[in-house]
Amino acid sequence: MKILVVGGVAGGASFSARMRRLNEKAEIIMFERGEYISFANCGLPYYAGDVIKEKENLLIQKPEKFGKRFNIDVRILNEVLSIDRVNKKILVRNRKTGEKYEETYDKLVLSPGAEPVMLPIEGADLEGVHRIRTVPDIEVVRKKIDSGKVKKAVVIGAGFIGIEMAENLAHRGVETYVVEMLDQVMPNFDKDMAVIIHREIVRNGVILNLNDKVCKISKQNDALCVETESGKKIVVDIVIMASGVKPEVQLAKDAGLKIGNKGILVDEYMRTSDPNIFAIGDAVEVKNPITGTIMHIPLAWPAVRQALVAANNIAGVEDKYKGTIGTSVVKVFSKTVAMTGINEKMLVKMNLPYEKIYLYPANHAGYYPGASPIALKILYNKETGEIFGVQAVGGEGTEKQIDIFSVAIRAKINIENLADYDFCYAPPYGSSKSPVNFAGMVAKNHRLGLSPLTHWDRLKGDEFLLDVRTKEEVEETRVENAYHIPVDELRNRLDELPRDKKIAVFCRVGVRAHIANRILIQNGFKSYNISGGYKAYVNYMQAKMQGNEPGFLVTEETINEVFCTTPTWEKNK
Ligand SMILES: Cc1cc2nc3c(=O)[nH]c(=O)nc-3n(C[C@H](O)[C@H](O)[C@H](O)COP(=O)(O)OP(=O)(O)OC[C@H]3O[C@@H](n4cnc5c(N)ncnc54)[C@H](O)[C@@H]3O)c2cc1C
Repeated sequence: MKILVVGGVAGGASFSARMRRLNEKAEIIMFERGEYISFANCGLPYYAGDVIKEKENLLIQKPEKFGKRFNIDVRILNEVLSIDRVNKKILVRNRKTGEKYEETYDKLVLSPGAEPVMLPIEGADLEGVHRIRTVPDIEVVRKKIDSGKVKKAVVIGAGFIGIEMAENLAHRGVETYVVEMLDQVMPNFDKDMAVIIHREIVRNGVILNLNDKVCKISKQNDALCVETESGKKIVVDIVIMASGVKPEVQLAKDAGLKIGNKGILVDEYMRTSDPNIFAIGDAVEVKNPITGTIMHIPLAWPAVRQALVAANNIAGVEDKYKGTIGTSVVKVFSKTVAMTGINEKMLVKMNLPYEKIYLYPANHAGYYPGASPIALKILYNKETGEIFGVQAVGGEGTEKQIDIFSVAIRAKINIENLADYDFCYAPPYGSSKSPVNFAGMVAKNHRLGLSPLTHWDRLKGDEFLLDVRTKEEVEETRVENAYHIPVDELRNRLDELPRDKKIAVFCRVGVRAHIANRILIQNGFKSYNISGGYKAYVNYMQAKMQGNEPGFLVTEETINEVFCTTPTWEKNK
C-alpha cells in the first residue's frame, strides 16, 4: 500500500508514525511545504518571549531522524499543488529546485492545517506586520525584539494566540496594545468570565482596546501607524496579526472534495467524500457531541487524535472519532484560563434549557500556604442534569478541574453525581470537597429545592435583596439597596424580613448565603441564593459595563467603576 501525507506537523507526523507502527510494509511519503516537520506551534509565542530560549527546543522531530526511525520518506520543502482523484496521483513542487513531479497513491491523507487570517485592510502586507504560524515567522519577530528596537507593539485579536503573544511581548518589556473587535477577550468564554481575564491583562500593563477594528496600517518613518475605527492612531514598531485562523481547504476544494461551512467534511472514520482520501486536523470540520452541530475547532488534541483514527482505519483497525468538545487552556500572566464544552452565549442562541452555577473554591486547603481561588462557571441541562460546559480562571490546579469536567461531559455524568466521586486530597493539593464535588452538591441542593439558586442577571427588581456578609465586608464593598443582616444574626432578626416577597440572598461567594437560604426556607420564606455572591456581582457588572462603546479601553479606572455604580435592576425599576 502506498500512502501519501500532506503536511508534516501535528496531524501529518502523528499519522505517519502511527501508520508505520501498524504497517511495516506500507510505503509512506510525507510532504511538508516548510523546512521543519513536527515543530511546536504551541510553543512559538514563548520563543518570542524568551521563555523558551533555544529554537532547537521547538523542533520536536528532525526530518532525518523521524524518517529513519519510522522508515518514512520525509520530503520537506515539497508542496503538494493538486490532486488527481481519477488517476489517484498528486502533483508536487520541490521548492528548492522548482521541479514539479507526480506521485501516485492508494490512500491520501490531508493534514494541511489552518492559516492565520490576514485582515483585508490597507497596510496588512507592510513590513513589520507579522503572522504567527511557523518557526520562520516567529524567528523574525524574536530577532526584532532581541535587537532592542521594538518598544511598542499592537496585537490584533484577543483569541488565545493574540493573548499569548501580548503576554510574551509584555514579558520582553514591550509596551503592548491589544485591539479586539468584540467586546471581550477569548470569544469561547462568556463575558462574565472574560472580565476576570481583562483584569489580569490590564494588571500586567497591557492596554486592552475592545469593540474596535483596525482599519488601516501605514508607514510612519521607521514605525507603523495602526488606525482603528474608533479613531485611535497607535504608532508602534511591530504589529502581530492574530485575528483568527481559517482551514487550508483549497487543495481539497480544487479536487472536488466536499467542504462544509469552513473546513473539509469528513465522516467519523476521518474519510472525506472520496473514500481513498482522509483529512485530519485544523483543516476539517468536526461534530460537537454536546450540541450535535458541526464546528471548526482548531486545536492540537483533535489533530493528534484524528491522526490516530485515520491511521487505524487505513490499517483495518476500525476506529471512530467521537467529536471535539473544545477542552483548552491558556496561560494569561499568572492566571490559568481553561474551558471545556459550550458556553452560555451558545446555549442562549440554541435555546437549550440550561442552569448555571458560579463557584470560587480554593485550589487547595485554605489553611495551607499559597491557596488561591478558582473562578468556575458550570452550565448544565436543567432537565437532564447533563453538563454542557465549564469555564475556569484561577491559579495552580485550574486545568485539573476542567479535565475532570471534560471527562464528565464525555461520559454524560449527571451533574448531581459529581458529588459521589473521590478525588486526591491532602492540604497542599486539594480539599476534602473538591471544586467538582462542590458543583455536584450545589446542583443537587438546587434541583431538590433545598437551596434554590438565582443569578444577578435574573433579578427583576421586585426581590428583597439580602446581604449576609459581615459588617466589615459591607463597609468595604456595598451593593446598593441590599438589606444587611450578617448570617450569624439572621435567626434572631427574621421579623425584619418580608414574607410576601422573594428574598434574594448573597454573601461573598455563596457559602454563607447557602446557610442563610436554609434558615430562611425552613422558616417559611421564599428564598434564593444568588450564585457566586458578591464576586459574581462584580463580574456581572463589569461584563455589563466593559466594551459596549466603540474603542472601549479597559483600564484600572474602568475596572473600578463598578464599585460606585447602581445595579442595573435598580435602574430598571
Ligand atoms: C502560535 C500557535 C499556538 C498554538 N497553541 C496551541 C495550544 O496551546 N494548544 C492547542 O491545542 N493548540 C494550539 N495551537 C493549534 C495547534 O498548533 C493546531 O491545532 C495543530 O497544529 C493542527 O495540526 P495540523 O496538522 O492540522 O496543522 P499544522 O500543525 O498547522 O500542520 C500543517 C502543515 O501542513 C503544511 N502544508 C499545508 N499545505 C501543504 C501542501 N499543499 N503541501 C505540503 N505541505 C502543506 C503546512 O506547511 C503545515 O506545516 C497553536 C497554534 C499556533 C499557530
